[in-house]
Amino acid sequence: MVDNWPRSVIVVGAGIVGLSTAWFLQERGVKVSVVDRGGVAAGASWGNAGWIAPGLAIPLNEPGVLRYGLRSLLNPAAPLHVPASLDPGLWRFLARFAANSHWRSWTRAARANLPLNDECVEAYEVLAADGVSAPIVAAPITAAFRTPRQAEGLLSELRRLQAVGQQVEHTVLDGDQLAAHAPLAGEALTAGVRIDGQCYVDPGAFVHALGKAVMRRGATVDAVEVAEIRTDDRKVILRSAKGTVLTADAVVLATGAWLPRLARQWGVRVPVRAGRGYSFTVPVDHPVPGPLYLPDVRVACTPYQGGLRVAGTMEFRDPDAPQVSARLEAIIASARPLLQGVRWEERSDVWVGPRPVTPDGRPLIGATVAPTVYVAGGHGMWGLAHGPITGRLLAEQITTGKQPAALADFDPLR
Ligand SMILES: Cc1cc2nc3c(=O)[nH]c(=O)nc-3n(C[C@H](O)[C@H](O)[C@H](O)COP(=O)(O)OP(=O)(O)OC[C@H]3O[C@@H](n4cnc5c(N)ncnc54)[C@H](O)[C@@H]3O)c2cc1C
Repeated sequence: MVDNWPRSVIVVGAGIVGLSTAWFLQERGVKVSVVDRGGVAAGASWGNAGWIAPGLAIPLNEPGVLRYGLRSLLNPAAPLHVPASLDPGLWRFLARFAANSHWRSWTRAARANLPLNDECVEAYEVLAADGVSAPIVAAPITAAFRTPRQAEGLLSELRRLQAVGQQVEHTVLDGDQLAAHAPLAGEALTAGVRIDGQCYVDPGAFVHALGKAVMRRGATVDAVEVAEIRTDDRKVILRSAKGTVLTADAVVLATGAWLPRLARQWGVRVPVRAGRGYSFTVPVDHPVPGPLYLPDVRVACTPYQGGLRVAGTMEFRDPDAPQVSARLEAIIASARPLLQGVRWEERSDVWVGPRPVTPDGRPLIGATVAPTVYVAGGHGMWGLAHGPITGRLLAEQITTGKQPAALADFDPLR
């Protein structure tokens, strides 16, 4: 190592977080290799809703979510589903989540997110301006409700976000205004809230373009499953599941919902569990001018390749478990009565992906007990939005040895 900063780094995980970290490390002159067991965008970064939505980055650990989750134990069609399994790790995680589901912990997470929210769009623009060729579309997000009273729930969440310092420009819409903004909103929806200043991307296309840019700048991106990590006083030594060995000056673990498997041995005790969501694409008869959000059924709709990507549900299950068709049916059953002109039967691209959820609503970004092993993950609902700015801040920490103030509350050793 020169000046004690790593000259070479292996990034494990080719999702939005790992590839963004790779890109910003390259910006600082570091030689990077990226490995992923499934290739680029093999995890949560592919089929998500694609929102870069600082105005909606609401931490998950709201007190209301817990009540919702407990009810869902009895109702497998609820938008939040906790299977009644015997996995003791899941129950320990949920107990910690419950212990953090109060306004003090929520406020801490919301406040910690402010610098990520402030700079998330700009970090995307930096990537797009310098070789990541995938569009970033600026558009308001329209939330739609059956009644004005139901809109109150979101409005009070937005007021809470504003109270901690998040700028959220929003406008309340009546039924006619909603219909004008969101032609897909059916007659059952009579009230809306338009949140301005947001963006969206085609997440799979963006992450693949980022992967190509990282390779053009000299990195390798290889299909490797990392099974073990060791360090000596000079190097990190990674062993793959097939027995190959890779070495570098430092390693970044950006393995999303799989993070604890490799990070635990490096003192990272905060658990990360897969809050799995589903998505699919449907053709539509009406234009889709921008994202549409159905908060009461927790469904997000995004313009996607001439149709609509519909995403939703949260089930706490192993990240590698097969799709559960009842979860998909639950999304359709809840959204169908609310939207018009959606050809549900012609759906394609059915996908499940694991949101990496922490119990306190804060991601894990920074150094571990080994000064050459870093982690970046656990962004939950907002990893796509926060991936590039995470990469930028972590690359700064790795190459200067100083933790940026914005990362203090995300310390993986908390
Ligand atoms: C339905 C749904 C909708 C969502 N909508 C949004 C949204 O609109 N906006 C938003 O900001 N966020 C959204 N999210 C959340 C977002 O998708 C995630 O937070 C984000 O993609 C996490 O990125 P990541 O890079 O940390 O993890 P991943 O993308 O999961 O990447 C982790 C990678 O690590 C690899 N890996 C794991 N273990 C190993 C190993 N041992 N060796 C090698 N490789 C390994 C995996 O193959 C994977 O590719 C949504 C999520 C879902 C499920």
